[in-house]
Amino acid sequence: MEVKPTDALWNSVVSQLKESLPTEEERNRVDRFFALFLSHEVVGDRVVIGVSEQIQVDLFTPRYAVPLLNVFHDLGFENIQEVAFEVKTTAQTIPVPAPKPQLLKTATPMPAESRAATVQKSRGIPSTMPLHEEYTFANFVSGPSNSFAHSAALAVAKGPGRTSYNPLFIYGGTGLGKTHLMEAIGHYVLEKYPRLSVCFTTAETFLNEYVNALMNKDLPNFRERYRKVDLLLIDDVQFIADKEKIQEEFFNTFNELMLYHKQVVLTSDVAPKDLKGCEERLTGRFQQGMVVEVESPSYELRLAILKSKAQSTHRIVPDDVLAYIAKNITSHVRAIEGALRRVVTFMELNAAIPLSLEIARHLLKDSIEQEKTIKDLTVNEIMQTVATYYGVKISDILSSQRTQTLVTPRQVAMFLSRKLTTKSLPEIATAFTKTHATIHHGMQAIQKRLDVENDLRKAVDEITVSLGRSFSDLKTNDNL
Ligand code: ADP
Ligand code: MG
Repeated sequence: MEVKPTDALWNSVVSQLKESLPTEEERNRVDRFFALFLSHEVVGDRVVIGVSEQIQVDLFTPRYAVPLLNVFHDLGFENIQEVAFEVKTTAQTIPVPAPKPQLLKTATPMPAESRAATVQKSRGIPSTMPLHEEYTFANFVSGPSNSFAHSAALAVAKGPGRTSYNPLFIYGGTGLGKTHLMEAIGHYVLEKYPRLSVCFTTAETFLNEYVNALMNKDLPNFRERYRKVDLLLIDDVQFIADKEKIQEEFFNTFNELMLYHKQVVLTSDVAPKDLKGCEERLTGRFQQGMVVEVESPSYELRLAILKSKAQSTHRIVPDDVLAYIAKNITSHVRAIEGALRRVVTFMELNAAIPLSLEIARHLLKDSIEQEKTIKDLTVNEIMQTVATYYGVKISDILSSQRTQTLVTPRQVAMFLSRKLTTKSLPEIATAFTKTHATIHHGMQAIQKRLDVENDLRKAVDEITVSLGRSFSDLKTNDNL
């Protein structure tokens, strides 16, 4: 296969790399670091990435050289032997062109000029991170699961600091569009109010800067910089939840900005009240403006998002393939984009083969498998499945009747709720309208019986499979 380091291909590589990373922080780091790359090219059997300083070579090589190489191999470019970072002097620099049309631009390194523009426009706030070019309101598809968050974001963008939505706190599961909405506010303000200074950062970066300032005895400067900001966008604040020292600083900076009617927008993967380890005065503050949730998109919204994203690839993806993706990839929008990217990459590389549903099925086999493990089961789904299996009602499971025909299903449901969800013991207790101790006892009872009762093991195994999980999920998750 001949390698053309097109931007579409590069985008696929970056996106796939991000997909393989386990945490939001690591994915965000890719966005930030990769925006610093000056060029990428294939030289013989090497991929050479140009950066401006040796320190970047030292930082990026151990972190990304092998993972990037693996992604190239996964995409079928097995002839690539090495991914190397090299310092490019200005004369050698091959700028990353702003490719149009692009594949999906989820993790595109920003073209140098627009990156500069963002930084320049928000002058005096050197810590701002580049906004993703495509995270605009125009590219955001609204539907019932996000319309409230969407309108709140739009209202804030139109009148930063002038609405009662201050701060605006956007929360929800991963990959549901929080960062996109937050950056859309940034884009809008930079365009409509060029005199306002906008700072987009993550809680992790904020924390790192704070620690650096502390070590360099430079705190006044740090504070000053943030206090000059008109619109402060802080992504993923759950990161500061259990870090006491930074909360203090955050609280002070936050108060000051609010005092001057500066607009603050925050995102988090949980609601303010669920930010574990966060001081109450801070979560109280977070709730003083407007708290909005983004939820999982419905089938219709998933299809609408897919259509919109497919359109921007300038490839005609058959409707049945789009519907297949929307039906089978349900966890979050990032996964949906990943699936679309996979089929579009196939189309790019195999222009002569028409994309059939059969091929799409094959291409997406792994992603759909993975879906099952991403999707968090609810306690209700588990109760329902257990009840159906044993031929009892949910009300029987929730009752306190102690006949053995009800005790077993009830305890199995408790056991599986703890093993197959991320819910805590108190949350499960609430869902079962029982005490902590009852849940704990029920789980231990099942665990003991599983060792000696083949029938019970078979039942639990079958229920687990019908919930889309496998018996090994029970072993790896040792919540007891
Ligand atoms: P989060 O910050 O909630 O984890 P992101 O904002 O990073 O999620 O969104 C993940 C991906 O899904 C992004 O590429 C984003 O553009 C896309 N996305 C999410 N929701 C929508 C939507 N409603 N319309 C268009 N794209 C969306
Ligand atoms: Mg995000």
